[in-house]
Amino acid sequence: MALAELQTQITGWGRYPLHPGRLNRPEKIRDLRLPESGGAIARGQGRAYGDAATPHDNELAVQTERLNRFLAWDPMAGLLTLEAGATLSEVIEFAAPRGFFPRVAPGTRLLSIGGAIAADVHGKNHHHMGSFGSHVSEIELTLASGETVVCSPREDAELFWATVGGMGLTGFIRQASIQLQPIDSVWVSARHYPCANLDEAFRIFEDPLRDDQHTVAWVDALASGPNLGRSVVMAGHHAVRDELPPHVADNALALKPKKERNFPLDLPAWALNPLSVKMFNALYYKTQAAKTAPFVCDIESFFFPLDAIGQWHRLYGKRGFAQFQCLIPRARAHEGVREILERAAKARKASFLSVLKRLGPGNPAPLSFPDDGYTLTLDLPYNDKLPAFLGELTDRLTSYGGRLYLAKDAFATPEQFRIGYPQFDQWLAVKQRVDPEWRIRSALSQRLGMEVGQ
Ligand SMILES: Cc1cc2nc3c(=O)[nH]c(=O)nc-3n(C[C@H](O)[C@H](O)[C@H](O)COP(=O)(O)OP(=O)(O)OC[C@H]3O[C@@H](n4cnc5c(N)ncnc54)[C@H](O)[C@@H]3O)c2cc1C
Repeated sequence: MALAELQTQITGWGRYPLHPGRLNRPEKIRDLRLPESGGAIARGQGRAYGDAATPHDNELAVQTERLNRFLAWDPMAGLLTLEAGATLSEVIEFAAPRGFFPRVAPGTRLLSIGGAIAADVHGKNHHHMGSFGSHVSEIELTLASGETVVCSPREDAELFWATVGGMGLTGFIRQASIQLQPIDSVWVSARHYPCANLDEAFRIFEDPLRDDQHTVAWVDALASGPNLGRSVVMAGHHAVRDELPPHVADNALALKPKKERNFPLDLPAWALNPLSVKMFNALYYKTQAAKTAPFVCDIESFFFPLDAIGQWHRLYGKRGFAQFQCLIPRARAHEGVREILERAAKARKASFLSVLKRLGPGNPAPLSFPDDGYTLTLDLPYNDKLPAFLGELTDRLTSYGGRLYLAKDAFATPEQFRIGYPQFDQWLAVKQRVDPEWRIRSALSQRLGMEVGQ
């Protein structure tokens, strides 16, 4: 029986680009399948910023949000098997009171497990734990042919690693087994290091004495001259009971009730300007830089601060925004990050969410984004000059041997993609094996010229 479809406009979290398309939301895992004809792409929670979960014009996005059953839990091994539409938030609500937490948590818990695998997401602990796909022990996948297969790092490892970071293009992930880590509490023991400029930030990232399980820096992207790269490095680890104040130590695994407020309106374009962002950044720097003594905070505030404000992307108005997230290999990271920040500050590109993270070695997935180096993220409101600015920035990035994060990108060209992902041919060989007709495809695969042979 054909599933009900909604004709609508489909976009990612950045609200750019927007494509007309069809959406269906299967109720049962057996309905997770391709249409009789035409192309389709899986869609989880739509938290990818660009066009990864957006179909070609008028094709189908298969949204997995109702496919969220928990299937098996092995507390001895910390292994959870669940349908891929389940969210990380649901995993945390299940696991935290039992003394477990995801090994890798990105900056939002409102994403699906399928989306976490397809983008091979990373957290603030990549330099210690690697990315999400490295903690997945098995995947069940529906291929374009309709056949359901199981793959893992031991069983059809090529298909497994092509699916990790494969942006949904190898098949629909039906279910996955993910490895969790034991925790003592749902609290984080944290500490902030204010940095007057980029040199100081790099010194702290490279200092083993100031490293922690999780480390990330908020960067004031409008600071320039001697203050270029002014930032606050935020470090922390899951608190053990001895680190907790007595009033929480007795109930250390109890999650705080969530407080979510929705951002009330689409802001007009003039509201976000270099002056308002500069004022926000100055205030934010002052309050965060003051926290130099160790302090304890809840996991929501440490890992997922943005989730407290639902629909916060409305801050950027109806035209949307882009996130430029790049990786620069370690050897040239300092100069590359400096140049990108200089260009952003000079162009007065008002980004008030700019983040710098140190990443560790990558995994065998050919299209996985994270690798040994540094990643810089800038959020930039859309305007007519943005595509040209990002095009230049991406050319500079590739000259440093860097690459863009496909889950955030909406602008890169096929050439820029190929330079950034030199293992694309290895991935393509698997794609040709499992879906030679490219029935599973997206606006991203079309834009980046991935659909070779079509
Ligand atoms: C506030 C915020 C913070 C973020 N922080 C981070 C971060 O710290 N680190 C990081 O790495 N990322 C981060 N991201 C990006 C986000 O984690 C990824 O884009 C993730 O893929 C989104 O998951 P989703 O379920 O919303 O997937 P969608 O956006 O719906 O889809 C993303 C990709 O996954 C594929 N996909 C989804 N479900 C399936 C499935 N069942 N089978 C096959 N393919 C599937 C889609 O086809 C698409 O290619 C952040 C995003 C936001 C909005």
